[in-house]
Amino acid sequence: MLGIAVLVLALGVAGGTPAARASAVSPVPASGVGGSEATSASPSGGAPDYVSQVRADFTPQNRAYSRTRVGLAFLSPFYDILAGLLLLATGLSARMRDVACARFRNIYGRTLAYLAQFLLASFVLELPLSFYGGFALEHRYGLSTQSFGAWFGDQGKDVAVNLFFFGVTGLLALAYLVIRKSPTRWWLWLALGSIPVIAGGTLIEPLVIDPLYNKFRPLQDQELRAKILTLAARAGIPGRNVYEVDKSRQTKKYNAYVNGFGPSQRIVLWDTTLEGMKEDEILAVMAHEMGHYVLRHIWKGIAFFSLLSFALFYCSGLIARWATARFGARWGFRETHDLASLPLLGVTITLLSFLAMPLINGFSRTVEHEADVFGLEVTHLNDAAARAFIKQNKSDPEPSGFVKVFEYSHPPMIERIRFAIRYRPWMEGKPNRVFKPGS
Ligand SMILES: [Zn+2]
Repeated sequence: MLGIAVLVLALGVAGGTPAARASAVSPVPASGVGGSEATSASPSGGAPDYVSQVRADFTPQNRAYSRTRVGLAFLSPFYDILAGLLLLATGLSARMRDVACARFRNIYGRTLAYLAQFLLASFVLELPLSFYGGFALEHRYGLSTQSFGAWFGDQGKDVAVNLFFFGVTGLLALAYLVIRKSPTRWWLWLALGSIPVIAGGTLIEPLVIDPLYNKFRPLQDQELRAKILTLAARAGIPGRNVYEVDKSRQTKKYNAYVNGFGPSQRIVLWDTTLEGMKEDEILAVMAHEMGHYVLRHIWKGIAFFSLLSFALFYCSGLIARWATARFGARWGFRETHDLASLPLLGVTITLLSFLAMPLINGFSRTVEHEADVFGLEVTHLNDAAARAFIKQNKSDPEPSGFVKVFEYSHPPMIERIRFAIRYRPWMEGKPNRVFKPGS
């Protein structure tokens, strides 16, 4: 939703807005996939056959869940586009603009009033899909711990966060001012302007936005904390910023992530992970997360999405100009700088972001693999890493190439497990690829 999907996506790479995190295909979870322990001590004394085990654990039920998730991931951008076109074609967007302009004289007030109506209308139109994907489906497969009221409250918070971030701060008003002042070059100014917005959003997300949804506190388990600090010292990072978050309020899934940068950068473990994983598995997960930290993946993400936004805003400008000339009269506006064009900008950015998914996921899978390499090099916990992957994931371990390219932000599980078991350069006297001890 909104022309700001890019920014939401951008924040998503850093661990994600709540919305991006909830819809991520990959870090599915947990409960049923506990067979690893049974086979981890194989009778022959050799390495357990995790690949066969993962295939066996991918039950028809897991397959059905995974298929539905992938289906939803493909469907939802087109659903959003239809919702945006509906706002345009019914003249609702033009009417919302008229209401805003009748109440306020200045562009700030008008933009804020229009945005509030737009967010509310989008919320209602998208409710069927967000309810199904975010609530009903998760409950059907026993993955959610959230009541309907709590879930609905979180959706309300999403609307409020968007209204504040883009409306109250005046960002959207500024964007429309730029579109009016520079009818042909606005895409360039907006793309340039998105760089500090992406960076600022990444900075404040862990401090301001995440605590709206969950409670964060420094990791409590002192014994585990000491081990993580030792690991962090080996990895060469300040290990002070390790937090746990009460995700068990919402889900049974397991996860951990790094977000923020500078003073706000931190590693966060979901309490579900602490509850359901063994110590060596948690350390393997932490080492992967430390890899994101040490290898500066957050900065690389900010740079990647800033570059991408130039291409997206450029193409969006072309499409918006064409569509305004062709359909604008019917939709109730003649210029792109008319507030009523917001759904059009949203539609174009959603479409272009979907087309860019192979690129975005390709970038993400590359950095995820790098973090896997780092984790193994720093811990040598190959077996624990494989077990941790198995516990973290219930999505299709061997998706088709098409699904992988469009929807997988992490390498598919069988690839990750094979790599985790096989990768031991230290046994062959070869140098590490990414972790340089003492550097
Ligand atoms: Zn990762």
